[in-house]
Amino acid sequence: MGPKVIIHGGAGSALHDQGGLAAVRQELHAIVDQIYQRAKGGHRAVDCVVYGCQLLEDAPRFNAGYGSVLQSDGQVRMSAALMDGQIQRLSGVINVSRVAHPIDLAAHLQGAEDRVLSDVGSMELARELALPLFDPITDLRLREWMQERANHFQRAMAGVVAEPDPQARRGTIGVVVRDRDGRLAVGTSTGGKGLERIGRVSDAATPAGTYATPQAAVSCTGIGEDIIDECFAARVVIRISDGMAPETALAKSFAEATANQRDFGAIGLTQGGDILWGKTSDVLLAAYHTGETLGDTLDQPHGTQMGRIAA
Ligand code: ASP
Repeated sequence: MGPKVIIHGGAGSALHDQGGLAAVRQELHAIVDQIYQRAKGGHRAVDCVVYGCQLLEDAPRFNAGYGSVLQSDGQVRMSAALMDGQIQRLSGVINVSRVAHPIDLAAHLQGAEDRVLSDVGSMELARELALPLFDPITDLRLREWMQERANHFQRAMAGVVAEPDPQARRGTIGVVVRDRDGRLAVGTSTGGKGLERIGRVSDAATPAGTYATPQAAVSCTGIGEDIIDECFAARVVIRISDGMAPETALAKSFAEATANQRDFGAIGLTQGGDILWGKTSDVLLAAYHTGETLGDTLDQPHGTQMGRIAA
């Protein structure tokens, strides 16, 4: 079986601007295809995931790396995680500033003894690795924040896809790859919810937001607190690893999330090559490559929906 790839660019309320939707689709399809080509060339799942996260972190439309949302104090603090399913190892950074690719720090930490570093520690690591200082703040994100400041921070969360629709509430990026040899890996990278308190910790660099075993891998996006309360990525992955059918694991986990009124989405892959996605939110910006065709979840109806593209 050839490689499989699924990526996301966030989940949240509806994209009202159809032009915005078309542009998001085009960008996600182009990136998922680039990751697929790399996997087809024989690269390992973890390397393809890091590459895919870098591409998405570079895209200012998405709330990760360049174009991350600003926190309550007008600063960007990003979090990212990488998990290699083959060796079942998670590494990550929480609330790092002034780097272009938080996923690179997570990738470096795969080989470290201390594998998840927070603010000061992650900045120290960036300095040790001599990563160039990078300002991820875009003009649009700064304008959004200035607007919120003028409104005395009435909104609970920033518009996390950079687009004209001020209500759009999506962001975070995620990549899941099954390589040619059946190895799985997953990465998630985020600027957070936006407008949050200094020191708030996202789900991204926890097993709730990013988790993988040799049998399955999942990345989540949406309200981090909801994702953590369901421990969602680990919940789905462990159910599948314990032998539950992927479609049953997905249905059961999303039924629980819906009953608990959670607001998020998730993407995943199984060792057997099944592509999985699901959401409780209005939209999930996900795209996948089956090895034959490209597909996405952009036209799905609002509310809880899920899908499995069988191998
Ligand atoms: N899950 C991210 C967080 O809560 C935000 C997002 O996915 O949009 O930090």
